[in-house]
Amino acid sequence: MDVVLDQKELIKYPFLKESQQLARRHVESLEEFLTSSPGSMALERAKERVIAALASKREFQDETTQNIRPEFEIASYALARMLVSCIGDRSLIDRLARYEAERASYFLENEDPEIRQFVAWSIGISTGTTTLPVTDYVELVSRMRDRRWRLVNRDVRQGAVRLEPGDIDELIRERIRAILVDQLPLRIPPAICERLRKTADEISALLQQQVLEQFGEIKEEAFPPCISALIQAITAGTNLTHMGRFAITSFLHTIGMNTTGIAEIFSRAPDFDLDMTMYQVEHISGRGGTEYTPPSCATMRTFGLCTNRNKDCERVNHPLSYYRLRKNIKKKGK
Ligand code: SF4
Repeated sequence: MDVVLDQKELIKYPFLKESQQLARRHVESLEEFLTSSPGSMALERAKERVIAALASKREFQDETTQNIRPEFEIASYALARMLVSCIGDRSLIDRLARYEAERASYFLENEDPEIRQFVAWSIGISTGTTTLPVTDYVELVSRMRDRRWRLVNRDVRQGAVRLEPGDIDELIRERIRAILVDQLPLRIPPAICERLRKTADEISALLQQQVLEQFGEIKEEAFPPCISALIQAITAGTNLTHMGRFAITSFLHTIGMNTTGIAEIFSRAPDFDLDMTMYQVEHISGRGGTEYTPPSCATMRTFGLCTNRNKDCERVNHPLSYYRLRKNIKKKGK
């Protein structure tokens, strides 16, 4: 497509090839850039990006009016991706990808139609269409949870899915998110992670604090019956399936238990192997790029892991919601 975006427009869509080229023209050596004053400024903006991604309510503003030069603003996008890659926490990676997708979507809403069309085209979506071939549609919505995206709830005719007004905006946002999430974590040389360590540690501390605020002190007595059953199975030396190990590890990681704490639970197994356990726990809790979110009740049921359901299970559709519910009931002394 024959559209040329100016530098201020490129700031809004830093994931575009053209934006990356602009930043690369001004940053020859990353090591040198990080020790320069524009590099420090870009790193500070990168930190702001990641912290903004952690916020529960996201607000966007037009950074094109700020003092930082466009190429360094775009470099801050690249540095933010490096920071979350060095930290290696899957939930943080997911949140940055979501943040960047929502930010681009915010700008696209009021964008000149030609530029909007160009950005969408760059990620493989045509804005002019009112239908999508079923195969394209299924690929695009594969990670969208809302029931309205399910094929059974759509108007499908002659191998094409009819789009409702507004669908295309959501599909563009989802496509940007999926592209970014698939690209992360990046392979960052250890020397660069070392340079970014101070900023990365500040972000990790904030993330940890947020998890603790969200879930508070860990209370085993509030665990859902499925998770308690998995712990009992480990203690009894039963060999868990991959999904069983994933469910328990991702659950414990999400409620704020650190790797050592999770390994301690696994150490209750008679055939406990520390190295193997640490490897698996770190892998499942994000460092290997594995999907992080604990499975919902529906997925647990599919894998035969929904056991000992009780009356509180009727009120939830996710083991994490069960845990929150039980903790709140305990807090209120019910
Ligand atoms: S309904 Fe959900 S929370 Fe309850 S046991 Fe099943 S999977 Fe666990």
